Amino acid sequence: MIPTVLPTYNRAPLAFVRGEGSWLVTGDGSRYLDLGAGIAVNALGHANPDLVAALGEQAGRLWHVSNLYQIPEQQRLADLLVAHSFADTVFFTNSGTEAAELAIKMARKYWSAKSQPERIVILTFEGAFHGRSTGAIAAAGSEKMVKGYGPLMPGFSQLSWGDIEAARAAIGPDTAAVMIEPIQGEGGIRVLPDADLRALRGLCDASGALLILDEVQCGMGRTGRLFAHEWAGITPDIMMVAKGIGGGFPLGAVLATEAAAQAMTAGSHGSTYGGNPLACAVGAKVTEIIADPAFLAEVNRKAGLFRQRLEGLVAAHPDLFEGLRGQGLMLGLKCREGTAPADLVAAGYAEHLLSVPAADNTLRILPPLTITDDEIAEAARRLDRAATALSARRG
Ligand SMILES: *Cc1c(COP(=O)(O)O)cnc(C)c1O
Repeated sequence: MIPTVLPTYNRAPLAFVRGEGSWLVTGDGSRYLDLGAGIAVNALGHANPDLVAALGEQAGRLWHVSNLYQIPEQQRLADLLVAHSFADTVFFTNSGTEAAELAIKMARKYWSAKSQPERIVILTFEGAFHGRSTGAIAAAGSEKMVKGYGPLMPGFSQLSWGDIEAARAAIGPDTAAVMIEPIQGEGGIRVLPDADLRALRGLCDASGALLILDEVQCGMGRTGRLFAHEWAGITPDIMMVAKGIGGGFPLGAVLATEAAAQAMTAGSHGSTYGGNPLACAVGAKVTEIIADPAFLAEVNRKAGLFRQRLEGLVAAHPDLFEGLRGQGLMLGLKCREGTAPADLVAAGYAEHLLSVPAADNTLRILPPLTITDDEIAEAARRLDRAATALSARRG
């Protein structure tokens, strides 16, 4: 008999009833150190007092009104994001997938409004993840995600990951946009070198194509800058954000330049919940905290500490690990052939440690950005015990 919850996930036999900072607590009081943070969502940890206060205060005042009216909380968050980014304008969604949908629509509308409706192809990259809608799975194109869901939405062309020469060859008079994650999350914490992101920006500039960056996972302070593309010194035309921006409250956004967004006029797009007062009150608090240069400096300092520990772990377990990847607190342990990240995740559970598998045989480490030095040391000890146990079991 089919479970009452549609079984599209392989769930661990763990149920948490409470969270505190970097820790999750089960019903029987067992505490787990959380290096997954709801997949880069709980950027400020669990039950963060500032966020609890922002949500509680808004909850007692006003939950929802509809985008038929002015929403001061939404205006405030949009102003904050514009002040701290390349963007001139923001549309709020409830998820990363919906942000991807709008980014795709915006790119098409841009060329339609320029009377070049033949420019419909969006170049994407193998290993990409942009969400689970029909548009987002067509964009990523991976066999696993699209199987059985055809016919797929046309207008996407996938290139090898980070293949700039392929992009140079593919970009042409039918190209609407290039869409890429500066660091692939689901794809295995694969970092696009800064020089390659700059090269893509250059190719887009030369052809007029829009550069769409998916920072749903790598944005909002995760890499030690508010947005990952800042490291490369370039700006996109359109950017998707979600996950960390709500700190656990469902919220996403599309940020865009005025030029890229100019065709999006009244009635061209919409969302019932998108940008509602509850979500935006929380999002504004999250953004205010993370955009503070002192906060980002701490993320970078702790990332250095964590990286050092994980390099030690890799060196201590050469049978399991090939190396360390990532930037800031978006880290990946690349496993050797024959070592399944899922087995490491399971060994982590036994040590009361939560981590997340990814593609390309990589284990993801995405702790709350507020993780403490002591917790980083504790995480390294637990990872070491999990790795030792896994090695021993394999003999
Ligand atoms: C998670 C993710 C998405 C999809 O976001 P949802 O909120 O799950 O819809 C899109 N792009 C990237 C890079 C992601 O990591």
